[in-house]
Amino acid sequence: MSTACIITVAITGSLPTKANNPAVPISIAEQVESTHEAFEAGATLVHCHVRREDGTPTSDPERFARLMDGLHRHCPGIIVQLSTGGRSGAGRERGGMLALRPEMASLATGSVNFPTRIYENSPDLIDWLAAEMLSHDVKPEIEAFDLSMIFKASEMAKAGLIQGPLHVQFVMGVKNAMPVDRPTFEYYVSTLRRLAPDATWTGAGIGRDQITLNRWSLELGGHCRTGLEDNVRLDRHTLAPSNAALVHRVVELCPEYGRHPASVPEARALLSLPAAA
Ligand code: MG
Repeated sequence: MSTACIITVAITGSLPTKANNPAVPISIAEQVESTHEAFEAGATLVHCHVRREDGTPTSDPERFARLMDGLHRHCPGIIVQLSTGGRSGAGRERGGMLALRPEMASLATGSVNFPTRIYENSPDLIDWLAAEMLSHDVKPEIEAFDLSMIFKASEMAKAGLIQGPLHVQFVMGVKNAMPVDRPTFEYYVSTLRRLAPDATWTGAGIGRDQITLNRWSLELGGHCRTGLEDNVRLDRHTLAPSNAALVHRVVELCPEYGRHPASVPEARALLSLPAAA
């Protein structure tokens, strides 16, 4: 029997521009439309960043509120996950939108080098973001850029500092962080299974390895992330025409691995989130 795969679409991020790919949605209206197409194509979870009019990243709660409102109206039941990532603000600014009570938010449980900077997540900031999530009933998606972050997340879940069961995303292919490496990926999966047997997980590959991580995740029973935040191309020669096109690529791969794209009720049940209103 085929098992469900939650397809996450990371629509915008904080780096890609219209010059990289004109399909990158920047305005709130573009983000809602792009998510709607991706939702119709089979995505049931949307990972969101917001940008100012000039395209620079921000963590402005007012923009996040307008985006959430549009997504709830046009994509009924989709799981909305807001980014607390480090390019959109400094320190606690990064969690200013958690009071909007999105169903999920990203939480990196350690620091790591990125291509040109340090992605800094101090123990204090991690604890503060986690406490805000807990108080606003927000389930974290743990962003694991290396093995220590998986251990840290498991420790926090056991201490009741985050809402469980754990959901972890293994990120591979960011320059200067963990490369795309199959034995390491398998070790991530087996370690998470050992530390937190009830955890769910997603694989995210950056750039041309997006599809590599899609395949490995389908094969090993995880969930998939795609979208223009991580990769703007279908192949070396072709820009992805939309977020929906990248989602479609994962949908097409599913049957090869005995999987099918999760429906809204399936995705919510898998993540132990309430059924859609
Ligand atoms: Mg992000």
